Amino acid sequence: MKALQRYQAEPKKLKIFEVPKPKVQKGFCIIKVVSSGICGRDIEHHNTRLPISKIPFTPGHEFSGIIDEIEKNNKFKVGDRVVSETVYSVCNKCKSCKKNIYNLCPKRKNIGGSVNGSFADFVKVPISSLHLIPKSISHDEAALIEPTCVAYNAVFMNSKINSNYKILILGIGTIGLLTAQMCKLKSQNIHLLCLKSEFNKIKIAKSLGFKKLLFFEDLDNSDYIKYNNYFDVVFDTVGGVSNTFNCALSYVIPNGQIIKLGWFMGKNKELNLDAIIRKSISVKGSFSHNFKIWEKCIKLVKNKKINLRKIIGRVDDLKNWKNSFNDVINKKYVKIILRS
Ligand SMILES: [Zn+2]
Ligand SMILES: [Zn+2]
Repeated sequence: MKALQRYQAEPKKLKIFEVPKPKVQKGFCIIKVVSSGICGRDIEHHNTRLPISKIPFTPGHEFSGIIDEIEKNNKFKVGDRVVSETVYSVCNKCKSCKKNIYNLCPKRKNIGGSVNGSFADFVKVPISSLHLIPKSISHDEAALIEPTCVAYNAVFMNSKINSNYKILILGIGTIGLLTAQMCKLKSQNIHLLCLKSEFNKIKIAKSLGFKKLLFFEDLDNSDYIKYNNYFDVVFDTVGGVSNTFNCALSYVIPNGQIIKLGWFMGKNKELNLDAIIRKSISVKGSFSHNFKIWEKCIKLVKNKKINLRKIIGRVDDLKNWKNSFNDVINKKYVKIILRS
């Protein structure tokens, strides 16, 4: 089969290779991959040096496909249209596993993170990670259920939102736009903070009905002062920078909530965290998702409560991965789907 693999530890050493198809084993199945989304994490990974022990490695963790091989099972069969959680294995012993929040298991291995992912013809996943997708959800949309679950976890599990709350979302990438859509199910007062140069993303945000846009470039303008101590809940979906978190600290009301989804990635040196104390803010991280969240999100997409179609900018063949990676890096599209 073909697989897009990291073949050296140095950054950007990625190429399509002919490799053996993964072998099915007890408790696992083989999925014929149909659609995979390119995630910011795949790009970050692409730009980072990897430990040599990890090479060769196939990225890709947002995907949908068709069951190709599976042991006799009363829930799934060959030919079923499915999505898979990103979890490959957990310890099943720690407190998180016992409480069924196995996404927080310290020993967790991830598909497309610590084991081979979906930028390939086939991917091996545990049967326990599978979810059926209804016919009304296309494979391309289904590939985006993973980031949808990330947003659901932040909004429905890790924050408390009343219908009169003012909400601010920092960042309008895939996670920002999905978080905004999740928030809309709870409150109608939603502001998005983005860069003026993010034309494509702004267009999508507006087409999804989000009209209240604030711009990073205008943060020093005097009319932005009114947003200090203004928002009940702030979601920071931006990764790799710290100034968005400083915005969150300024704009959240005393006793308000900040939910952090975008990784600092070590870039958190210029933070002034005293506001957490002075304003008595609740800061909550939100990471990944679990079985229940996946089932909820599939229902929300099926019932058209969440629009994934508008987020997909382009669909391309896996063999054109290089152009697509560049288009994501250059912020040409919010989300690109690669077809295997
Ligand atoms: Zn992702
Ligand atoms: Zn565990």
